[in-house]
This record gives sequence, structure tokens and C-alpha cells, in this order.
Amino acid sequence: MKTKILKSSQIDEAVSFLRNGELVALPTETVYGLAADATNEEAVSKIFSAKGRPSDHPLIVHLDSFAKVIDWVEEIPDSAKKLADSFWPGPLTLIFRRKKTVSYLITGGLETIALRIPKHPIALRVIEKLGTAVAAPSANAHKRTSPTKPEHVLKTLSGKIAAIIDGGGCSIGLESTIIDITRTTPIILRPGAITALMIEPVLNIEIQEQLEHQEKVPGNMQAHYQPEKPLFLLSIEEIKRRIKQENNVAIMHYSDITRRKNATHYKMPKDKTEYARVLYETLYSIDSTHVDKIFVEKPPFRNEWLDINDRLHKASSK
Ligand code: AMP
Ligand code: MG
Repeated sequence: MKTKILKSSQIDEAVSFLRNGELVALPTETVYGLAADATNEEAVSKIFSAKGRPSDHPLIVHLDSFAKVIDWVEEIPDSAKKLADSFWPGPLTLIFRRKKTVSYLITGGLETIALRIPKHPIALRVIEKLGTAVAAPSANAHKRTSPTKPEHVLKTLSGKIAAIIDGGGCSIGLESTIIDITRTTPIILRPGAITALMIEPVLNIEIQEQLEHQEKVPGNMQAHYQPEKPLFLLSIEEIKRRIKQENNVAIMHYSDITRRKNATHYKMPKDKTEYARVLYETLYSIDSTHVDKIFVEKPPFRNEWLDINDRLHKASSK
């Protein structure tokens, strides 16, 4: 199959691929998603084969309006209404109890379901025109770095999906925050741009943020978000020391250090939001060079950098 590259004006073409049970990669404000009509089991199963994703890893269902939530869930807790009011459309995924009619294919066999209304106008228009909802994990091969540009998607999925809509770069650049609201005390399963500090005043309750939760879901795999080159998460002192013995490395650093001839330097932003936006893009750039490994300066271990620490930690795991 040849993957067709669609312009942002070709929404109708993307929708007809989805109606025919094909896969279309589309831009969201977080990362590019690999969309299938969520009401078509055969289409959803293609996501797993295209990505090489194990069947017990649940997918996030993307909607265009709050009115559609009830089609997918058993009940809508008050907390969901409050969070949707404050953060939808946007980079927050809510975990509900699934409606009994929802396919286990989507939930990875779980009794819960993940829902989000994305903020990107292209994603919203596609879902609205399709009239149903799309299941959409990140548009990359299983365990690999999430794509924030169309060319990243093509790198691992070219020839495996019907089309991709070119919406340019993603503004946030990291996957959505995931919060489980089915428990008495809501818990963040995957940190993202919407932080516990932002959620707490909305729910008027203290929120737990867990990097190592017990759910059997991809966001919780130890090795995830990985570039092709081995990635090492090091302090700036460790980088300075190790670089003396290495010849062909890329260094991603935000601190100022003396540039060395035997390394390729990627100066990262000191601002967290900006760092998140360019992180995956930088990893894809480095993957297309001939360096042997990537040294990444450990980001600050402050609350607002939690999502970046989480992704880099998993990207560096063996
Ligand atoms: P991705 O494949 O990158 O879109 O990731 C989808 C994410 O959604 C995974 O990290 C899962 O942790 C999460 N997810 C989806 N459904 C559920 C669920 N029912 N319970 C917990 N996490 C979920
Ligand atoms: Mg993913």
C-alpha cells in the first residue's frame, strides 16, 4: 500500500478512508495519532498490526464533543464534568468505566476506557465529519518515539497505513496526561502538559501522580518512546567526563558547556514547554545521523518537568 499524503484541506478524503475501515494518521496538539473508526472492529484491529502493538494494550478513543461520552461509558462521574469543563478540548485523557457494548479490542481487555477530546482543528473536523469517534494511539511503531511531524510518522508506518494528513508540527509535543477517575481518589497514570497542580483546584482534592503504576498499559512499560540509537540519561558532570572517551555521540543539553569536536551538540531549551515541543523532533533528527549514541542531560527534577522526566526515563530503559 502506498501511504497518501493529504493536505489539511483534504479532510473529506481522510474521512472516506476512515469510513472504508482504513487507517489515517492525523495531527493532534500532543503528537500525531493513528486513527481508525472506533466503531469498526476490523479497522481498529489494523492499528495493532500496523504498529506491531500487543493486543492487551488499550487505545484512547478521541471524540469531538462531550455529548458523545455517554456512548462509551457506564456513567459520567461529577469529576469528569468538571475536568472536561476546564480542560477539554485539550491534552487530558480521562479513564472511565466502559459501557458493556464497548469492544475489548479497544480497552485491551480492561473494564475501563480512555477518552479525550483533542484541541487540534484538523483532528476535530475529521471526527466531526466521520460522525462517530476515532481510536488513535501515537502514530509510530510500538515502543518507538511518538511523532510530532508527518515525516516522523512515515519513518515507521510508510506503506502500512492508507494516508496521513500533513498538519505541520504539534504544538505540545508530548502525549496527553492520563487521569483515572474511576477510583475514589483520582490518580494520574501518565504525566503530561496538564499537571496535578492544575487539576487539584478543579477537583478540590489532592491528586496522586504516579510514574510506576500497576496497570498493564503501554504508558507504563519500562522501555517506551525509544529512538533507534541508545539513549543515556546523565548529569552534565557525567556527560563532561564520558565525552572524553567517546568519539561519535550526540549530546542534548540545556546547560552551557564547551562544545567538543568529537560530538554533535543539540542545545535544548531551558523553558519546559519549549523543551517538550522539540524533544521528539530532536530525537528523530539525531536518529537520521550517524552518531552511535545519545547523551541527554537529565532535566530538572521539578514537578513541572515530570512528563519530560517520565518519557526520557523510559526512552533510556533497556
Ligand atoms: P498511545 O499508544 O501512545 O496512544 O498510548 C495510549 C495510552 O493510553 C497508554 O499509555 C495507556 O496507558 C493509556 N490507556 C488507554 N486506555 C486505558 C485504560 N483503560 N486504563 C489505563 N490507561 C489506559
Ligand atoms: Mg504510543
